[in-house]
Amino acid sequence: MRKFSSSSAYYQNKLKLALIGQSLFGQEVYTNLRKQGHKVVGVFTVPDKDGKADPLAVVAEKDGTPVFKFPRWRVKGKPIPEVVEAYKAVGAELNVMPFCSQFIPMNVIDFPKHGSIIYHPSILPRHRGASAINWTLIEGDKKAGFSIFWADDGLDTGPILLQKECPVEPNDTVDTLYNRFLFPEGIKAMVEAVQLIADGKAPKIPQSEDGASYEGIQKKSNAKVNMAQPTEVIHNWIRGHDKVPGAWAIIDGKVLTLYSSSMLSGSVPTGQPIEVEGASQPGLIAKSGLILFGSDGKALQVKNLQFEDGKMIPASKYFSSEETASLDLTDDEKKMAEEIRVIWKGILSNVPAIDDTTDFFKSGAASMDVVRLVEELKQKCGGVQLQNEDVYMATTFQSFIQMFVRRLRGEDQEEELVIDYVTKDINNMTVKMPHQCFINGKFEDAEDGKTYNTVNPTDGSVCLNFLLAVFIIYLQQKLNFLTSFVCSLADLMEEHQEELATIETIDSGAVYTLALKTHVGMSIQTFRYFAGWCDKIQVAQRYPSIRPDPIATSPLQRKSLWGDVCAIVIPWNYPLMMLAWKSAACLAAGNTLVLKPAQVTPLTALKFAELTVKAGIPKGVINIVPGSGGLVGQRMSDHPDIRKLGFTGSTPIGKQIMKSCAVSNLKKVSLELGGKSPLIIFSDCDMDKAVRMGMSSVYFNKGENCIAAGRLFVEESIHDEYIRRVVCVSIYFKYLNLIISVSYQSSFFMEPTVFTDVEDHMFIAKEESFGPVMVVSKFKDGDVDGVLSRANNTEFGLASGVFTRDINKAMYVSERLEAGTVFVNTYNKTDVAAPFGGFKQSGFGKDLGKTEQNTHCIITLYHFKTSFMTMRIMCMCIQVRKPFMSTCGLKL
Ligand code: NAP
Repeated sequence: MRKFSSSSAYYQNKLKLALIGQSLFGQEVYTNLRKQGHKVVGVFTVPDKDGKADPLAVVAEKDGTPVFKFPRWRVKGKPIPEVVEAYKAVGAELNVMPFCSQFIPMNVIDFPKHGSIIYHPSILPRHRGASAINWTLIEGDKKAGFSIFWADDGLDTGPILLQKECPVEPNDTVDTLYNRFLFPEGIKAMVEAVQLIADGKAPKIPQSEDGASYEGIQKKSNAKVNMAQPTEVIHNWIRGHDKVPGAWAIIDGKVLTLYSSSMLSGSVPTGQPIEVEGASQPGLIAKSGLILFGSDGKALQVKNLQFEDGKMIPASKYFSSEETASLDLTDDEKKMAEEIRVIWKGILSNVPAIDDTTDFFKSGAASMDVVRLVEELKQKCGGVQLQNEDVYMATTFQSFIQMFVRRLRGEDQEEELVIDYVTKDINNMTVKMPHQCFINGKFEDAEDGKTYNTVNPTDGSVCLNFLLAVFIIYLQQKLNFLTSFVCSLADLMEEHQEELATIETIDSGAVYTLALKTHVGMSIQTFRYFAGWCDKIQVAQRYPSIRPDPIATSPLQRKSLWGDVCAIVIPWNYPLMMLAWKSAACLAAGNTLVLKPAQVTPLTALKFAELTVKAGIPKGVINIVPGSGGLVGQRMSDHPDIRKLGFTGSTPIGKQIMKSCAVSNLKKVSLELGGKSPLIIFSDCDMDKAVRMGMSSVYFNKGENCIAAGRLFVEESIHDEYIRRVVCVSIYFKYLNLIISVSYQSSFFMEPTVFTDVEDHMFIAKEESFGPVMVVSKFKDGDVDGVLSRANNTEFGLASGVFTRDINKAMYVSERLEAGTVFVNTYNKTDVAAPFGGFKQSGFGKDLGKTEQNTHCIITLYHFKTSFMTMRIMCMCIQVRKPFMSTCGLKL
């Protein structure tokens, strides 16, 4: 029997603590120390500000822990006796100081049996002083981290107890470093440090003076950017001062404070020049922000600008920052505004009432309150993409509501996404096509700037000059998708269906009407279908044991969202539809995906990427990386962080991918490969139908169809008539094509072709043609088993078909055809709800339907001992109470 937290061992070596500090960090440390069984005998924090208590005080007061809010501990360097006495009276054995901003007298620091420990956000002895995180960035350090040390007189020189470090990413900010590492790991480390002291294992390592530095808090007056430096140094300066006190420069003759800097890795966007004092060249106001150039000619981008009067704007709006018209709110939006007012009131508890002019910051809110506001709103209105900086840009209640409603309506989103469109006038419309890689929610140039051309197959003209992806993935987000995201994606695709179909036509050569109905139409249906699965995936199933013995278990199978990184590689024949078939199921199971379209047909995938942003799908969840299979596709197969690869394409490449997936990290792989599907036409068929459907079985989508009938077996007695009719119709099509478009003569299109009297040993009888080529063979009248054996004599097994009016024959033949799909008196039918896929060398794994959904989920088996109590405890432990309990027939 496992011992739970009530065991006496848990309470061994626990200490009586005084918490001296403040903020959410202090609050979390306090809560976690108590959870570990330590007793907090007193909390010493800062006085209420504008009637608002510090978060540490708020929780401690709720718990009934004594809370002291001394404004200071010393006067003129001397400890205040009453304060020190009050402190001593709590009887702490150790002072824990998370984020302590006050000077604490040494007779308090040294008073407890174990002394005092303090958290500092740098790897000491580097960056002693209060602005350590800022200086880590300003100095361009490659490592950040924190130290927990034995407190000294405030100069951060005490012996080290423990330190932890993390790499600094090129575009890290104070916020990202803090939120990603310093805050969460710092809390854990404080708790760990206290336990080490309690267990008598805490070291005291004297700080070395090697590499020591002390930097003060930067003042605004000192934060001016020196533009005559390399770009990275300027970038470090700006991000190190973001948000406090803010680095500034004289731009266009004004003092502008610069926020959200990032190094520009791709080509410099176009924009309107703007004078920057001290810079080697003017800056640019581009769609993505303010571009600044350092002395080395490299560029950085600043997202937001603040004027001297405190007003902040997106830098891209510098030349057009006039007020936007105020929105009229709907009734629902008004209701939501009232709910937001309550949230504001909860944060600004010192303000008697929140009216339209209430200013968040002038009412006393600090940066932690911004985090709280954003988090509370995200919880209330799931799906809205809100950043901390949005609060800084809309500081009054009214402007905040206007911004929030715009964001909810999706009005701001297109502006935020910068797309360097290539436009084309075609099909009575102007189509707008993105042409860069889509990574982490942004369209970006390839790292090495390489490009290639895509070609319009109808006339051989260059569609556009395309940017080649170098494989960079930012795939950290693993989100459970809400049905609404996937549904709105389908709605947006429907809204843009003509544009998508037109792009598909010029890119893949699809017939426009077919592109509209099938390529785009079925893609929309696919997303709608899988949207329905999003919230129905997590289920549990019980397998009753057949073992009668007392140690029998009762296995439970749990299916859950996977939430991992999946790769998708697709071919060129149905670019958008293959994307939809593969990615909808993947998204609906909460996975992040990286998709490589075929090099020759990347355009609809990138248009799709644009729509995912409009649909509110979080950044990084969908990534589109165009480029060649040998480079980008191969790297995806080899990548150690990808857990599943879904491939549709040819059999030889499928084999290569499977091998790479196995060797790299044994990633799960599904393969939808080529086919050479047999179609058997018996003499008792409906001849008109057999001719019509037989032709479409071959020529549908110009024969570029994986399930195309690769070989027709026609019963001898009707063979000649069948061929005569097929040829007549083919000739008609041929002339029709010539009449419709003379430009086809210079294009990549091939005329419909028919081969007759094909024998089994011939190359065209065995290999996939993937074009408008009909391959016809005869079989002897009545030789059903003979033709079956010839039809099955192939390495492929994707699809097959039979035409006969005899139901017994239809059943007999269809049961014996070795293929994933068998069509009877029809062909080319697919349904988004039904699984699709082949066997033998046509691959394995299915697209579409419930089966496909399963491949993107995790299936885990739990063995439970079948006594009621054990089952109950286990179910609670794995936190999936409801499904498990209902499956087990138990109630909590
Ligand atoms: P393909 O040559 O196999 O290419 C398919 C995709 O794989 C392309 O994106 C290609 O990139 C990429 N690729 C090439 N080498 C790779 C590698 N070493 N690692 C990873 N990816 C690599 O097929 P295709 O000519 O485009 O398409 C036609 C084939 O697809 C036919 O055999 C057809 O039957 C099959 N297909 C099957 C289904 C089905 O559901 N079973 C559906 C449609 C098509 P590039 O951009 O460089 O070409």
